[in-house]
This record gives sequence, structure tokens and C-alpha cells, in this order.
Amino acid sequence: MPQQRQQLTRAILNQPFWTLTPEETLTALTTSSEGLSTDEAAKRRAMFGENVLNEHARTPRLHVLLNQFRSPLILILIVAGVITAFLGERIETAAIFTAVVINAALGFYQENKAENALELLTAYVRTFTRVRRDGREVEIDASWLVPGDIIRIRQGDRIPADARLVFTNNLEVDESPLTGESLPIAKDPKPLHASASLPERTSMVFAGTLSVQGFADAIVVATDADTEFGKIARLVGGMEREETPLQLAIKTLARWISAAAVVLAVGLFALGISAGYGAAEMFVMTVAVAVSAVPEGLPIALTVVLAIGVQRLAAKKGVVRKLLAAETLGSTTLILTDKTGTLTQANMELVRVLPQDGAAASEHRLLRLALANTDVIVENPGDTPEEWKMFGRPLEVALTRGAAKRGVMPTHHKEAMRDRLPFTSERKFSAVLLAPAEGPSQLVFLGAPDILLRHTTLPEHERIALAEHINTLALNGERVLGVATRILEAEGDKRLSPSSFSATMLAHLTFEGLIAFRDPLRPTVKDAIRRVANAGVRTVIVTGDHRGTAEAVARELGLIEGSNAVLDGEDLQHLTPSELASRAKQISVYARVTPEQKMMLVQMYRRQGEVVAVTGDGINDAPALKEADIGVAVGSGTDVAKSAADLIILDDNFETIVAAIEEGRRIVENIRKIIVYFFSGILDELILVGGSFLAGFALPINALQILFINFISDSLPAVAFAFEHRADGTSAKPKNIRRHMFDKKIRFLILTTGVLTSLALFLLYAILLRLDVAEDVVRTFIFASFSTYTLFLAFALRSLEKSIFSYNPFSNHYLNIGVGVGIALTLAMLYIPAANGIFHTVPLPLPWLLGVFVVGLLNITAAELGKWLFRREG
Ligand code: ADP
Ligand code: MG
Repeated sequence: MPQQRQQLTRAILNQPFWTLTPEETLTALTTSSEGLSTDEAAKRRAMFGENVLNEHARTPRLHVLLNQFRSPLILILIVAGVITAFLGERIETAAIFTAVVINAALGFYQENKAENALELLTAYVRTFTRVRRDGREVEIDASWLVPGDIIRIRQGDRIPADARLVFTNNLEVDESPLTGESLPIAKDPKPLHASASLPERTSMVFAGTLSVQGFADAIVVATDADTEFGKIARLVGGMEREETPLQLAIKTLARWISAAAVVLAVGLFALGISAGYGAAEMFVMTVAVAVSAVPEGLPIALTVVLAIGVQRLAAKKGVVRKLLAAETLGSTTLILTDKTGTLTQANMELVRVLPQDGAAASEHRLLRLALANTDVIVENPGDTPEEWKMFGRPLEVALTRGAAKRGVMPTHHKEAMRDRLPFTSERKFSAVLLAPAEGPSQLVFLGAPDILLRHTTLPEHERIALAEHINTLALNGERVLGVATRILEAEGDKRLSPSSFSATMLAHLTFEGLIAFRDPLRPTVKDAIRRVANAGVRTVIVTGDHRGTAEAVARELGLIEGSNAVLDGEDLQHLTPSELASRAKQISVYARVTPEQKMMLVQMYRRQGEVVAVTGDGINDAPALKEADIGVAVGSGTDVAKSAADLIILDDNFETIVAAIEEGRRIVENIRKIIVYFFSGILDELILVGGSFLAGFALPINALQILFINFISDSLPAVAFAFEHRADGTSAKPKNIRRHMFDKKIRFLILTTGVLTSLALFLLYAILLRLDVAEDVVRTFIFASFSTYTLFLAFALRSLEKSIFSYNPFSNHYLNIGVGVGIALTLAMLYIPAANGIFHTVPLPLPWLLGVFVVGLLNITAAELGKWLFRREG
């Protein structure tokens, strides 16, 4: 009877857990403070399902399909189809509805492709949770959580499930994703009255909210769709799908053009009627012209380019969280990057233990004190320290491993730990309150030694000497940490809280010694920095680390040559904004900065016109990430940082940021190609048809042919540009696509390929009409030429920079297929008798067909000419 049991269990989840005590909650969920067994967890998982709050709510396929029929163009076509049906024009009616179907199918195919690409993205970002299983602490994928699990919530975590708190230490939670309340809410395990509303349930934490302070243990009481968050939405940590400014701009543009096209069509209709054309014929003609003037495929093509680019980037470990980032990345001019983990490997090695008293015997004591300040899980403590698999902050992991190699195991102070303040990049140290069974209570600090030094009892001259020593180690590239203590005599059971401790407890410290780490550079970073520099992007280090360490790293990377390129947090405090602004261009390293200063730097550089990408990992980095044009969170960073970011680099690697910028450039280039292609096609059709009309010639291409060219020759290659990634390298200068949608080059290329060539074709038409050639041959020839040169143009537009001779024009298979299908259909229209009847074409003799090919090269020539002129200009 699994069905019944399931219902029974789900009913249990509906209790008001905030009114129960932690013990009652444990009983209600048949679990214990030691957590569930692996077996029981598996059973519950089968019962309650996975906890996949990360899942991206994709637009249902039916929705995507129906969307295709929402465009005004399609509505115009449908109305026109109905009218022609009433007029008895069967062939036209059929053609118009075929056009509707082709357009909808193509649009659906593309949008579906985009949806698929975006749907995959969320799977890249996984959330891990610390949980008690079989009585041990482990880290598991948050999707494996079940009701009854005992979880540890740390500073910066996204709460993975609804849970009843058991124990808290200064826990504060940002519940704005759930309730909209922007101030963090203090939590504690005290049971509450049943009437407490959701925001008042301080004895619980809710899935999807963010822990911004402290830590806690809690019992999972609901997962996945059963959580408060699951009830209202399912989009956590997923992709934000707002339309980008460029998409909106293109949509607006397309709308204006549509309106203009309708006006044009009405005018054309009136003119035609007054000139004596038949109403039915004129009607179909004007509809075709209107349709050809509307760039209806452009917004969709744009979405596909963005989505495919984003998918390609994800494969390189860069996950875009906001589609907007895909289009901004390409215009980035400045990267403000972290040092640890991004430029370095974060594979730190403990290289020095230097107790203050210099005695070798004190080394173990110093390591033990430092270890008391770590929060690390060792999954396989039975193995040798080299093989340990650990979870925790990289520095604390390195410390734990290094200490173990020196014979100090991580278990020591755990019983005595009364209270602790985890590390933040704001304070730059962590603190722990130890209350051993015998002896006095003691505070132990671990962190930036220069900062701890300020609060020690050391005499002035010793302090200066020590600072020099630290500086020497740092300039040697070492990451140096200090340990300091303070005995609490009378105030034995005081608590450590972020607000109370600073003034009273951070004084009269005893300096215990230094511990130094080596953190080697990532081997490819130097090259990546040079590569983006050549593409017009400057790299600046903004770090919380010591000035010397940062400078050593920057020198090794070739970021600084002379002096005066390094500022630290203290310098920043003393400089006026205008002094800083005037020096900003020369600075390559900002050291010992606080998150606030980081945010200020982002603002300053943006004011100077830079497009800024900034990296971050901590909770306090969120404002700077939001402030930047591109906020980059590192994969190992906190969930708080990730949820504020535009881009997550899963491997923490600086090179991934560079890859993202390069991909951004490619996206921008591909969008520019599509813009040229579409507008060139629109102008071509208008000039050829409008010109003939004004000149009083018979129209060179009829309504059905216009529809054919519009939906086949124009649309098929455009899709292929989304997959374009070889012909073009990274262009020399960052481009802001939004500001320069129609820059000089684009305008020029549209002019040459859209206006010049159609004028030439029009002229050719006029000449042929004067010669003694059968008119239907001439018109078929013009139609075939027009279709062909439109298709061929795509090969030349694969790069807007390079000559077509410098790349293999046939290396984009999507394009080959698109053009191939277009050519085949054009030929079919010429040589299949039934098609001749419908489209009023005739089979062209071979010499004429060769002529078609030659005219086909016209657009390519025009595009190459335009590119050549721009290359020459430099
Ligand atoms: P970075 O820019 O190198 O990532 P952080 O803000 O992480 O700098 O660290 C700043 C300083 O804080 C470091 O130089 C180090 O002295 C100290 N620190 C870093 N991590 C820890 C930690 N887990 N515990 C204690 N102190 C730390
Ligand atoms: Mg850091």
C-alpha cells in the first residue's frame, strides 16, 4: 500500500512546525538529531521525490507554437488569405496559407531551439548542502534532501528546503525572494504561536531564501513543491528570462517598420487601382510588399543567437544567469578580478608556521589554535591527509591538511567551542570562543595579520618589525595569516555576536604567530590577460588580501611594470573621489579592500564610461555584483553571490571570464550579420518592386514569388548565423551593440548590398525588357537571380571584417543546408511544370541559368567591396 503511506506522510508535512519544539519536530518526522540513515533517506526520496528547486520553468511547447501566431504579420497574412479565398483566388490563398505555415514552423523551430538551450543551463549550477547522515556530517547535492534530514546552514547559503531550526548562531536570513521583505530577519529556535504569519515564523527557514549572517542547524520539514517557495514558483537560481534591451529595441524597430509597411501598402493599393490594375491582383501584390518590408524573422533570429551563444558558453563553464549579460559581455572594457582562486589555483599549501615565541615546540599549539577557527568536513578521515576529500573554504581546507601533515588533527577544540564568528571579507578574520572544561575561556582569532596586529598588546617597535616581516613574506607571494588570542577572565560565557564583539573584545590581544601559504598561479592566466588586453579589455586586481601578496601576483602576471600601480584600502580612505578618479587608469591592484570599497570602485569606473565586469564570492560582494555591468560569481562562492550575479564561472577560472567576453563579442558580431542580412533583403525587394512600379514596368516578380523569397531565401540563412563561430575572431574593439545597432559599417554594408545591387538588378531588368527576349523568360530570370543572390550573400556576411577569400565559406554546415535548400526550391520552381503554373515561371535555358549564377555573385561582390573599404580605412 505505498499509495496510502505516501498520503499519510504528506499529511504529516502539513503541521505548523513553527509551534513545535525541535524535539517534537524530530518525533513528528521520525528522525533524530543524528540525522537519517542512508537507507531511510533513499526510501523517503522515493516517496517525496527529488528536491529540484533549481528547475527552470520552460515555456511549454504549445505556448511557443501559439506565440508564432501572435505576430501582426501573421495576422495580416491570415486576413489576406481569407479575403483572397472570398475573391476566389485559390492559388493565392493556398500560397498565403503555405507562407503562414512555413513562417510558424520556422519560428517554432528556432524558438524551441532557444528554449532548449536555456533549459539546459540550470543543470550546470548545482547546490550542495551539509547534512547529517548515519550520524556523520557530509555534503550532498541539495536535490537529495528529504524531510527529516538535519542540515547545517552556513553564512551565504541559499536555504535548500523548508526547515525547523534546532540551533542558531546569529542567524539572519534574507527572505526577500519569498516575502519581498528586504531587511534580513533574525532567526532563533523558540516555538511560536500558531497564528504567526509566514514572515513572522522566525523559528523556521524557507527554501529559496538566503542566509546572510551566522549559521544554524535545522530539520528539513518540506522539500521541492511542498515548500512555501515551491507553492508559489519554481524558478530559483535559474535563468532570468526578461527580454534584453536589444531584443526590445529590435522589437520596437520591427513594429515601426510594420506600421510603415502597412501605410506603404495602402498607398500602393490606391495607386495601383487608380492606374487600372485589378483589385484582386493589386490586393495580393500589396500584401506581398507589406510582408516583405517587415523584418519579422529578426526578433526570433536574435533570440536564437543569444541562446545558442549562451549554450556554447555554458559548455566552457560560464553559466549566464541573465540573458542581458550575453549581449553586454561583448562590450566589456574592464575586468575587476579577485585574486585567490581566480588568478591562482586556490590549491594552497601551508609552507610556514611561525610561532611568536620562536620555539619549535609552540608550532603545534599555534596550529591547534588556528584549527579551532576552521569549519571543514573531512569525508574520509581514515585515509592519509594527502588523500582527504574535504569541504569548506579553500584556506581552511589548506590549513586543515597542512596541520594534519604536521601531526595536528582537526578534532581538537570541537568540544570546547562555545561560539564562533565565521570569516567575512568585511572583517578579514574569524573568531571563536573556547570554553574548555578546565581553565578560563579564551577567544581565538585567525585572519589578516596586519589587521589583528593593530589590536595586540605588542609594543610599538615590535609591531613595526612584525609588519615588516609580514610584508617581506607577502612580497614573496605568500598568503600570510595571523593568530591572536585573548583570555576571558570574568566574562567567561559572553557570546560572540557581530554587533557586540568588535568594540569590547577586539582589544588587548596576544599575538600568537604567523602561518603562511603558497597559492600558485593558474598557468594560463597570464596569456588570457594578454589576449583580452589585445582585444581592448583591461584587467585590474581587486583583492581582500595583503598589499604585498597582491603586488607579487600582479608582477608575475605582467600587470604592473613601474611603481604607483598599487593602492590599498587605507589609501582609498584617504584619497578624495577626484584624486582617485584621476589615478584610476594607472592602478592595476587594489589590495585589502572591503566589499564596500569594491562597490565604490565599480561605480567609479562605470562613471568613467567603462563597461565593468567584477568577480565576487562572499555575501558582502552581492551589491558590487549587482552594481556592475557584468557581475561574475565564482562557482565555489556563496549562493548569495551567485544569486546576485549575471554570470557564474563554474571553475572559478579567470580564463572563463575571458572566454565569456570572447563569446559575447561573437554574439554581437552574429547579431550584426543578421541585421545586415535582413535589412539588405528588405531594401532589395522594395527597390526592385517599387522601382518597377514607379517606372510603369510590369512587375519583375509577382506576389507569390515575393512571398517565396521572403520566407525561404531570406529566412533559412539567417537562422544559420546563430551557429556561426569560426569565420570571425574577436574583433579589435569592444562594441556596444545597443548604442551602435546601425553603426557606420552596418549602414554602409546595408547600402551596398541592399541598394546598389538591387538598382543594378533593376537596370538589368529594364535593359532586358528592351531587348527582344520573351518577357516570361526575363521575369523568371530576374526572380531566380534575386533569390540566388540573396542566398549567396550569406556566405559573404559570415564575417563583417575578413575577406571571403581568407576563410572557407562553406564551413558553417547550417548555412550550407539553408542555402542548399533555398537553391533547390528555386530550381524546383523553374523546372517543375506544376510550379511553373502556380508561380508563373518558365524553365530557363542553360545560358540564362549561368547568368543567374553570375548575378548571384553581385551581392557577394558588393559586400566584399564594403568590407575592403573598411579594412583599408583601418
Ligand atoms: P581574496 O581577495 O584573496 O579572496 P579574501 O577577502 O578572501 O581575499 O581574504 C582577505 C584576507 O582575509 C586574507 O588575506 C586572509 O588574511 C584572511 N582570510 C581569508 N580567508 C580566511 C579564512 N577562511 N579564515 C580566516 N581568515 C581568512
Ligand atoms: Mg576570497
